[in-house]
Amino acid sequence: MNFQQSELTQQVAQTAKDFAQQYIKPFVMEWDESQEFPVAVFKEMGKLGLMGVLVPEEYGGAGLSYYEYKEVIVEISKVCGSIGLSVAAHNSLCTGHIMSFGNEEQKKKWLPKLATAEWIGAWGLTEANTGSDAGNMKCTAVKDGDEWIINGTKNFITHGKSGDVAVVVCRTGEPRAKNNSTAFVVEKGTKGFSAGKKENKLGMN
Ligand SMILES: Cc1cc2nc3c(=O)[nH]c(=O)nc-3n(C[C@H](O)[C@H](O)[C@H](O)COP(=O)(O)OP(=O)(O)OC[C@H]3O[C@@H](n4cnc5c(N)ncnc54)[C@H](O)[C@@H]3O)c2cc1C
Repeated sequence: MNFQQSELTQQVAQTAKDFAQQYIKPFVMEWDESQEFPVAVFKEMGKLGLMGVLVPEEYGGAGLSYYEYKEVIVEISKVCGSIGLSVAAHNSLCTGHIMSFGNEEQKKKWLPKLATAEWIGAWGLTEANTGSDAGNMKCTAVKDGDEWIINGTKNFITHGKSGDVAVVVCRTGEPRAKNNSTAFVVEKGTKGFSAGKKENKLGMN
C-alpha cells in the first residue's frame, strides 16, 4: 500500500498552511482576547475552496477528497484550534449533512452559498441535558399542515450565533425510540429562530 501523499494533497496542505500563517497567525491572540469571530477570514477561505472542500464542483465546491480535507483541518488547527474546529463544523456538520442527505432542490439551494462561505453553516444536535443521549432530546418538530413547528433550545452549537443557516436535529418520535429524529434546515431570520448568549468557556470571561 502506498501511503505517500499525492501531489494534489500536498498542494492543498501547502495552501492551507500558507493561508493560516499569513491571515490567521498574526491576529490569533487579538481575536482570542476580544472574543471576535473573524468573519472576513472565513470569507477569504471560501474564495480558496477551503469552506467547501468536499462539495462537488457542480455545487460550487472544491470537489476534493477526505485526504485533502484532513490536511486543511490539520494545517489550520496547528495555528488556531478554534478556527480549525469552525472550518470542520462548517464543512462536515452543516454542509456535509445537506450534501449527504439533502434532496437535489436542497443541495442546489444551500450548497453553493455554503461552499463559498457566502453563508456560514451550523449544525445543532446538543441540548443542555442531552449530549451523548441525543435520542432523549427535548426539541421537537410537529407537522402542522404543510409546515413544521419546531420547539426547543440547543446548546454549545458552533456558529449558533455567527452562522447564517443551521441544520437542526429535532425529535419527531418518542424519546429514545429508534429513528426518532429528523433534520431541518433553518435559515437565520426564520420567525422564532434566535441565538442566546455566548457561554464563557475554559475559564475565559
Ligand atoms: C468545542 C465544541 C464544539 C461543539 N460544537 C457542537 C455543534 O456544533 N453542534 C452540536 O450539536 N454540539 C456541539 N458540541 C457539543 C458536543 O457535541 C457535546 O458536548 C457532546 O455530544 C457530549 O455531550 P455532553 O457535553 O452533554 O456530555 P455527556 O453526554 O454528558 O457525556 C459526558 C461524559 O460521559 C460519557 N458518557 C455519556 N453517556 C455514557 C454512557 N451511556 N456510558 C458511559 N459513558 C457515557 C461521555 O463519553 C463523556 O465522557 C460542541 C462541543 C464542543 C466542546
